[in-house]
This record gives sequence, structure tokens and C-alpha cells, in this order.
Amino acid sequence: MGCIFCKIIAGEIPSNKIYEDDFVYAFDDIQPQAPVHSLIVPKKHIESLNDLSDTELWAAMLNGVHEVAKAKGIKDTGYRIVVNCGPDGTQIVWHLHMHVLGGELLDAKMG
Ligand code: AMP
Ligand code: ZN
Repeated sequence: MGCIFCKIIAGEIPSNKIYEDDFVYAFDDIQPQAPVHSLIVPKKHIESLNDLSDTELWAAMLNGVHEVAKAKGIKDTGYRIVVNCGPDGTQIVWHLHMHVLGGELLDAKMG
């Protein structure tokens, strides 16, 4: 089986790449919930937000958010970042990822 996001990072499963550096990889979500819906993942396999303690990596993920927002042209119109963690957070893929949603006025409801 293996991890689907590790396979995407390795290029074994195709993805629409938006941005990449030494620490993170960003690509479009396959089931977009908004006109812009991209995911930013650490290149290192980390299961969930609970397992992230490396502040440098967190900073790299936030930089990835800025790069995606710039590339998608939504830096000024705004966007939302979401990290689903664990069962109640409806985490489906157990490789840490940040959702970037934008391109329209988002529902104010937070879940
Ligand atoms: P979650 O774990 O609930 O934060 O969500 C996982 C996200 O990964 C969902 O929004 C899926 O649509 C997305 N996803 C699953 N498989 C792929 C894939 N092969 N390419 C891009 N996005 C994917
Ligand atoms: Zn992984």
C-alpha cells in the first residue's frame, strides 16, 4: 500500500505541482472544494499535526502557503488554510498536509 502523498512527492502518482522546495511539495487537491484548493505537504513523512515539532518545517509549510497563494493569484483576495488532524478532524490521508482554499468568498462556517 504505502502512503499516497509520499508516492506523489516521489512522482509515482501524478499531481499538478504548484510549488516545491527542499522541505515541502504543493499540488492541487483532486477533489477541489473551492476554485483554488491546493495541498502543501512536508517531503518527510509525518503522520499528523500531532507529530510535528520541527518549527523550521512548520515555517517552510507557511512559506509554501505564500508561494501557492502567489502562484494562484489569491494573495490579495485572501484564502483559508485548514489542517485536519485525527478522526474528529476528519483526517483521511495520514501524511500531514495543509489545505489552501480560495478563489471565491468562502462559507463563514468553520465546520
Ligand atoms: P484530509 O485528510 O481529510 O485533510 O483530506 C485529504 C485530501 O487529500 C482530500 O481533500 C482529498 O481530495 C485529497 N487527495 C486524496 N488523494 C489525492 C490525490 N491523489 N491527489 C490530490 N489530492 C488528493
Ligand atoms: Zn507519506
